[in-house]
Amino acid sequence: MRSEMIPYGKQEITQQDIDGVIDVLNSDFLTQGPKVPEFENSLTKHTGAEYALAVNSATSALHIACLALGLGEGDWLWTSPITFVASANCGLYCGAKVDFVDIDTATYNMCPKKLEQKLIAAKANGTLPKVVVPVHLCGQPCDMESIAKLAKEYEFKVIEDASHAIGGRYLNQPIGNCEYSDITVFSFHPVKIVTTAEGGAALTNQKELADKMVLLRSHGITRDPEMMSETSHGGWYYQQIDLGFNYRMTELQAALGVTQMQRLEEFVAARHLLSKRYNELLSELPIILPHQLENTYSGLHLFVIRLKLDKILMTHRQVFDALRENGIGVNLHYIPVHTQPYYQNLGFKTGDFPAAERYYKEAISLPMYHSMSKKQQEQVIAILERILK
Ligand SMILES: *Cc1c(COP(=O)(O)O)cnc(C)c1O
Repeated sequence: MRSEMIPYGKQEITQQDIDGVIDVLNSDFLTQGPKVPEFENSLTKHTGAEYALAVNSATSALHIACLALGLGEGDWLWTSPITFVASANCGLYCGAKVDFVDIDTATYNMCPKKLEQKLIAAKANGTLPKVVVPVHLCGQPCDMESIAKLAKEYEFKVIEDASHAIGGRYLNQPIGNCEYSDITVFSFHPVKIVTTAEGGAALTNQKELADKMVLLRSHGITRDPEMMSETSHGGWYYQQIDLGFNYRMTELQAALGVTQMQRLEEFVAARHLLSKRYNELLSELPIILPHQLENTYSGLHLFVIRLKLDKILMTHRQVFDALRENGIGVNLHYIPVHTQPYYQNLGFKTGDFPAAERYYKEAISLPMYHSMSKKQQEQVIAILERILK
């Protein structure tokens, strides 16, 4: 009997989630009703941020976050090369130029020392970034204190890409409270920690930014008389005062988000149990286990190991393939963005960010999701041991 592949990540949908979505289907509003604000309230309540805007993806949230911060032609956006392409593409959508800051070899997050060195050089050249996007890879918070200090000194804005990190904490504060950033972005794609199928959110403490993003989310259209250039023509009247998009989240998605958010802490706690067991049971293998920073509580979206290739008789590719052939749905997060053909065409070369490229040659994401059973985890561990020993 052939058993099914254990995926690297997976959503958990309960009857409570299903009931919530069905209620919306039976209601008057499939979009632009009360569920989106209810979901947004759950996000501000959890994080402590002033404002939360739900949108149809984290990619959309990154786009309107960049626009709200005034990113445009001639500006620079910097992010980490080890991220999903969306963290960089949002700069290009705005007509800005994109560059990368290499990763820290222990945390795999943007290295604050390399950021500072690059800022010093950019200052001399007049090419300082307008926006920097640190990514909390695997859910582990970036060194936000250092990044915020540099933001003040070099006058750039900060968007935290917290797509992996909802439910995590930094210096005992929830990720998403924007204490060290202008805007924080979450993703609710099904492989992430909580899901709305597709979906994302942008959080901020700055009213101006929230107002601007509300406009951009829905065509740049307002029904607020105070924002209009003339008095209303009647009950039908609205004005388009900016160029926006349709990035709205539906009521069905928001309903799913509301019930998923009620289980957020449980989700992250389950990931911590799985991570603890991996750390204990894999400690003898020729791999580097994830480094856990002090003063942080990771959202633990991913569990990434690195192979010690000088101690293994197989290549990275061979280990990866052997795991897949044995039903372990491993993955690799991420291909360094600057090595993608689209970015190579913009002038980036292999060799530009050596720490990121080395990471890519050794990293493997093991299956981890909160409904993963002990038996499934034992299977992953047993097969990994067999392959590496
Ligand atoms: C998933 C992800 C995104 C994009 O999220 P979507 O909701 O799919 O648009 C952006 N950044 C990172 C780091 C991600 O993991």
